[in-house]
Amino acid sequence: RPVIGVLALQGDVREHAVMLERAGARAVPVRRPAELSAVDGLVLPGGESTTMSRLLETFELLDPLRARIAEGMPAFGSCAGMILLARQALDGRPDQRQLDGLDIVVRRNAFGRQVDSFEEDLDFAGVEGGPLHAVFIRAPWVEKAGDGVEVLARTPGTPEAGAVGARIVAVRQGPVLATAFHPELTGDERVHRLFVRLVREA
Ligand code: GLN
Repeated sequence: RPVIGVLALQGDVREHAVMLERAGARAVPVRRPAELSAVDGLVLPGGESTTMSRLLETFELLDPLRARIAEGMPAFGSCAGMILLARQALDGRPDQRQLDGLDIVVRRNAFGRQVDSFEEDLDFAGVEGGPLHAVFIRAPWVEKAGDGVEVLARTPGTPEAGAVGARIVAVRQGPVLATAFHPELTGDERVHRLFVRLVREA
């Protein structure tokens, strides 16, 4: 079984660990650089990205994590985790640090201007078995994605200016996966299975 860490500084760590185990991995919490060195991949949970970026610095994990991702370690970020993995976050605090694992620009709390939290059924590329129920909580969206980034899911609807339809909410670039929503909260482990597969292939 691949050993997959869950960054355990803040956020819904337990939920991710449960889903990873159900998807066939061994899940371990990561709080220290030595723990990071011991995992085959890492999940960055949802929470609050500014706080998590500060905690990453305090726990001396920011540089080692950035280095491991640059070396090709698989990573999966949900919500705040997606924000941390992006190369740039709009509407962030000036001191927010980025892990630069995905060539995407995200906008924080992007849907929140209209509605704080909502749920949608999404078509998710690479996930078999029908639409995926997605829970969005003060979620970001992907405002720009580079050429090397595969778009896996968008919100339903049309891309009218200022509207929330057709927004990019799941991406993959090589072994790095991110969702604007929380697959750890719905009891459906298909996205975690996809990530475990990426870890096995790496
Ligand atoms: N709004 C949070 C942020 O910007 C993310 C919310 C979440 O992870 N559910 O960090």
